[in-house]
Order: sequence, then structure tokens, then C-alpha cells
Amino acid sequence: MKPKVFIATSIPAEVEKYIGEHCRYIKWEGEESISREDLLRILAENTDIEGLMLTFHKIDRELLELIPNVRVISNVSVGYDNFDIELMKEKGIIGTHTPYVLDETVADTTFALMLAASRRIVELDRYVKAGKWKKGSDKLFCGYDVHGTVLGIIGMGRIGEAVARRAKLGFNMDVLYNSRSPKPDVEAKLGIEYRPLEELLKESDFVVLLTPLTPETEQLMGEREFSLMKETAVFVNISRGKTVNEKALIKALEEGKIYAAGLDVFEQEPIDVNNPLLKMENVVTVPHIGSSTAKTHNAMFALAAKNLVAACTREKPPSVVKELAHLLEV
Ligand code: NAP
Repeated sequence: MKPKVFIATSIPAEVEKYIGEHCRYIKWEGEESISREDLLRILAENTDIEGLMLTFHKIDRELLELIPNVRVISNVSVGYDNFDIELMKEKGIIGTHTPYVLDETVADTTFALMLAASRRIVELDRYVKAGKWKKGSDKLFCGYDVHGTVLGIIGMGRIGEAVARRAKLGFNMDVLYNSRSPKPDVEAKLGIEYRPLEELLKESDFVVLLTPLTPETEQLMGEREFSLMKETAVFVNISRGKTVNEKALIKALEEGKIYAAGLDVFEQEPIDVNNPLLKMENVVTVPHIGSSTAKTHNAMFALAAKNLVAACTREKPPSVVKELAHLLEV
């Protein structure tokens, strides 16, 4: 009998067809993303599930104990901070994700936020549409250049490299980076330079955060880090909301410690409508759309489906998260 899986997100028709060729499946049909409550309810009603495909839902003991036969959790995202890695190791459950296929799209989003925040695109769009544009008021519109400035990237991985390439080739920027380990090959290829975090923050005109969310990176950017940045600097967070102490970011923006921010991710998602960040003219916000183009979403779903099907049919999934890769060796 084909293995049974639960697809807990909406997916493109051809990806659903592919899964159906290899697995029996049930699928979340709701208009909105599945809630934790509905997810647990459906799993409790389908305890024979061997594979689960989802985005951002917490994978913890309560959930895994409902589906004792599960072999794989297939995330439709590259980040996997929703996994309890130690628990998955203990239970021998494979976790997969979708690296590489979204790098260029997320790098585009990063540049969109850098440009929008530094050149005040969203604020001035509202200004024009409100009918406030008068002859001679253009002196009020000055922002800061992106080209020819210094970009500091925290987290020089797959996406960091795609951002660095745009910065060097398209915008003639000097690129500094910080990572857990130096990247001599990327330095040689792109002409970028490693800096300890403190130095990177002091020297950069743009600081882009691109680390995964881990115990080490949680609240990586706090009051001290923002105080080290230039008053003219722009901060962009495209990693996860919890890598930033949001209160410290709000304070830095209110006190003019930094010039502006571009934010794709937030401590709480969706963000509370009363969050002070939403009242600030110098903050550009988007609703976690880093990888959101139709082409890239299709590629992510296709890869997540390959991961799901492979693990359920005892084949090697293409993208197992590195901390769980050893599970395939047994
Ligand atoms: P990646 O290739 O694994 O790169 C992550 C980089 O972060 C690695 O170079 C790693 O350094 C570095 N890093 C880890 N811990 C660090 C620390 N404590 N201090 C400094 N650097 C640290 O991952 P990726 O594919 O580029 O994705 C990065 C993250 O972006 C994802 O995990 C996800 O959270 C986020 N993301 C967001 C969106 C969105 O829609 N907003 C979309 C895609 C991804 P080492 O190489 O030395 O380990």
C-alpha cells in the first residue's frame, strides 16, 4: 500500500498530482493557513500518517506523539527553526527543507527593502497619493544612496552570497560580512571581507541580517548592537523576527540611533496592528514575502514534494537538514 501523507498547506495542482502518484494523501482545504488546533485535530484522526508537509508549524512532542509512524517532516521553507531537532534525532524522524531554489528571489526582496527604506519610497508614495506634492518641496525628499556605500551582511550563506553578488556587481558597494566561520572561497570569488560583528556594525551603511534563527542568533541584534551602527545606517531583517530584539529596534529608530529599517519578518506574525513599528515613516514593512514569487513558490513546493515522497518511499530525499542527515546513513 502507498504511504499516507498529510499536506498541511495549499499546493500547486501539478505538485499535488506528483504526490498522488506515489502516496495516499489528505490535504488542508481551508482558505487560511491551518491553525495549530486544526493540525493537531487532523493528525489525531489520521495516526497512520508517514509524511507531513507544512510551513512554519512547530514540530514538538505533542504533535509527533499523535503520529507514531511518521518518517518525514517536509518544510516548504529553507529555515527550519520550527523543528525540535533533538526530539527528531531521538525519534529518528527526517526533516527536510528547500534550500537554493529561493536564494535569488530572497536576495531581490532584500534589495527591495534596502532601496525602499533608504530612498523613502513607501513614505513618498503615500505623500504623492495624499496630494501633498507641491512645487519646490523636492528638497524634503532626500534619502541616502545605496550604490557606492558599505553593505554589512550578517550570515554569509546561500542567500547572503546572492545579496553580496548584487551589491558588488550591480551597486558597486563594498561588502563586509560576518558568519560563524570565515568563507575564503566567497571572499576570493566576490571580493568581500570578513569582519567581527562589532566592526561590521560600525563600518556599514546597510546592515542585512540573514542568519537562521537558532539559540545563538536569537536576539542577535539588541540595544548594544543598534547603538554601534551609524546614525545614517539602514537595517534590514530578512532572517526571522526573533533574531532581533524588537523593543531595542523600536528604541533605536525612535531615538535616531539608526536612519531607517526594512522588515520582512517580525517577533509576532502577523504583526499586532498596534506595534509602534507600523506608525514609523522610516520603517518599511512587508508580510514575510522574502521568497514570494509564483515561480519560486512552485520550485519550493516541487522540492518539498520530492523530499516528502523520497523519504516515504525509502529513497534519499534531496534536501535533508544538515543536523539530521546522519539518520539516512543507518
Ligand atoms: P544558510 O546557507 O544556512 O546561511 C546561513 C548563514 O548564517 C551561514 O553562513 C551561517 O554561518 C550563518 N550563521 C549561523 N549562525 C550564525 C551566527 N551565530 N552568527 C553569524 N552567522 C551565523 O541559509 P540561507 O539559505 O542563506 O538562509 C538563511 C536564513 O534566511 C534562513 O534560515 C531563514 O531563517 C531566512 N530566510 C528568510 C526568508 C524570508 O522569506 N524572509 C526566506 C528564506 C530564508 P556558517 O556557514 O559559518 O555556519
